[in-house]
Amino acid sequence: MSLTLALSKGRILQDTLPLLATAGIKLLEDPERSRKLIFPTTRDDVRIVIIRATDVPTYVENGAADLGVAGKDVLMEHGADGVYEPLDLCIARCRLMVAGPVDERALQGRLRIATKFVNIARAWYASKGQQVDLIKLYGSMELAPLMGLADRIVDVVDTGKTLTENGLEPKELIATISSRLIINKASMRRQHASIQPLIDQLEAAVAMSGE
Ligand code: AMP
Repeated sequence: MSLTLALSKGRILQDTLPLLATAGIKLLEDPERSRKLIFPTTRDDVRIVIIRATDVPTYVENGAADLGVAGKDVLMEHGADGVYEPLDLCIARCRLMVAGPVDERALQGRLRIATKFVNIARAWYASKGQQVDLIKLYGSMELAPLMGLADRIVDVVDTGKTLTENGLEPKELIATISSRLIINKASMRRQHASIQPLIDQLEAAVAMSGE
């Protein structure tokens, strides 16, 4: 039996590869320079598929991939009940925040919140008992308050540079974020003999990198 691991390009791929290397899993080709979507590795029984970050939970939940790496933000938005989440890889760290203009007039009426994280935003304001209008965007959330489309945004923030450069500031912290290893539930039962050692090796690699 073989294992399929779902990853996304960019930060998650770059930070996951060194961890996988400790488990003897190395890519034979650089996905950042290829348009292929399926990549063999130095382990005959492990292949890697490269997909959009927001699609990783869907692939793993449905068993199209046995394992995946996804940001906690993506898991919170998607809902993570359908997969196991055994390990915090402590990579791609950032914060999920409510942000808004530095100079803002007193806000009146229902807040308009622009975000790609509509489920997270809905739950956040519901937990505060606050009624808001949600506006779904797919990118460049920082633009929405500047253009008068929204009062606030919900987005992930790393250094805060993007906010500052657009006249915005963090207002509320919703959650601290890092990437997690996720596993299909049926795969975990059927392929326990190959998946558990992999979890253990990755856990050891995470502990080493944190020292
Ligand atoms: P910043 O360093 O705060 O200026 O972040 C730059 C941009 O990268 C922001 O627009 C964020 O949406 C995005 N970003 C930062 N950290 C992450 C992360 N860990 N995962 C996904 N997107 C991120």
